[in-house]
Amino acid sequence: MYGLSDADLQLQARAAAFADELIPLEVEAELNRGELPKDVTAAHKARAIELGLFATNMPPELGGGGCTTLQQVLVQEQVGRVTNALAWVAATPPSWLPQVATPYQLEKFIRPTVRGEREECYAITEEGAGSDVDGIVATAHRDGDDYVLNGEKWHVTSYNCADYAFFQGRLVGGTHDGEHAMFLVDLPSPGVAVLRTPAYMHTFSHHHPIVTFTDVRVPATHLVGAEGDGMSFAYEWFRFERMMVAARCLGGAQRLVDEMTAFAAEREVQGRPIAQLGAIQAMLADSLTELFAARSMVYETARGIDAGADVKIQHSQCSMAKLYASEMAGRVADRAVQVFGGRGYMRENVAERLFRELRVERIWEGTSEVQRSIIADQMIKRGPRSLA
Ligand SMILES: Cc1cc2nc3c(=O)[nH]c(=O)nc-3n(C[C@H](O)[C@H](O)[C@H](O)COP(=O)(O)OP(=O)(O)OC[C@H]3O[C@@H](n4cnc5c(N)ncnc54)[C@H](O)[C@@H]3O)c2cc1C
Repeated sequence: MYGLSDADLQLQARAAAFADELIPLEVEAELNRGELPKDVTAAHKARAIELGLFATNMPPELGGGGCTTLQQVLVQEQVGRVTNALAWVAATPPSWLPQVATPYQLEKFIRPTVRGEREECYAITEEGAGSDVDGIVATAHRDGDDYVLNGEKWHVTSYNCADYAFFQGRLVGGTHDGEHAMFLVDLPSPGVAVLRTPAYMHTFSHHHPIVTFTDVRVPATHLVGAEGDGMSFAYEWFRFERMMVAARCLGGAQRLVDEMTAFAAEREVQGRPIAQLGAIQAMLADSLTELFAARSMVYETARGIDAGADVKIQHSQCSMAKLYASEMAGRVADRAVQVFGGRGYMRENVAERLFRELRVERIWEGTSEVQRSIIADQMIKRGPRSLA
């Protein structure tokens, strides 16, 4: 099905087997604030690397998997079947970075990240600037051989696991005054502090704290690309991440479809399985139909990227894939809770966990409303037929 090559199918099978190894640990993680013992998580990361599921998006010359976009999607789809972010150990480092990184940045940040020795986090969003990234007020100004960074960043995912951060700020002074720039900040660094770590809807060991940067000095060699480049990196990364969000949503929906179908076949009410009830059948059938549609769309978008589609078309199609797959997964999760009845409301049930966990897929990496506005803008500019 889906015209996958032998190499695609082998990678997909390895990722599926890895996900199946993690699934039995989900409830333990759920009941322990998302945490598993550190040695267990370290072993999972080592296994992801050994199976070729880590850094699939990075070029082979840097030690990465050099996978096609479709293959990256296949891996992240399986990652999405596992709750509590246990499969985030199959991580995808910033694939846009090697093209713009200096030799120093390659050695200090990228190669160790691809080897699984370093981990990054992103400090872009602020209290007043989320959807509108251009609205950030964090600053960066040049002082001799350094830049000095100031600002308060929200929802810095994985800050508690990371040892460096991407910080996006607005330049003050110089020829690029007011434009954005991105910097690599080692963690910990003097002046970087957690203001607070709010609890979120999901139960992940990766936290999303509010982090303050107060007169943080980074050498000028930690500027990514050139002054004024900050926004272009963000857009490129959004495109990639939107595809991977869509892929993980396919996996989440697949897990739910599998589990609710099995439950409906086995759970009997008044002497017959609920799978024979029309109302339950409608929920099963709608879920699989929408999953099929979403998967076809995501795979087709990935193939277009691999074939070198125009970047604007890629951008719109990634938005469509993220929009549809995340909303599809939300509907499937809602139905799955319903099919499981009272069991679906218990934290030990996969439907309950995915119902909460999938909610953020409609928010991060651009909300559904933002995706719709990107798609509609391109429809007006280029005509709908050029996009789909
Ligand atoms: C769990 C989690 C982890 C995150 N991790 C990171 C991270 O690691 N690094 C990072 O930098 N950020 C991170 N984010 C931030 C995330 O990208 C933003 O939350 C998201 O982009 C939305 O921004 P906002 O929260 O400011 O919402 P707002 O921009 O305030 O939006 C509020 C509402 O207004 C709507 N809206 C806004 N603009 C428009 C528009 N133009 N048209 C139509 N409707 C609009 C939105 O769709 C939404 O419904 C994370 C967020 C969450 C929840």
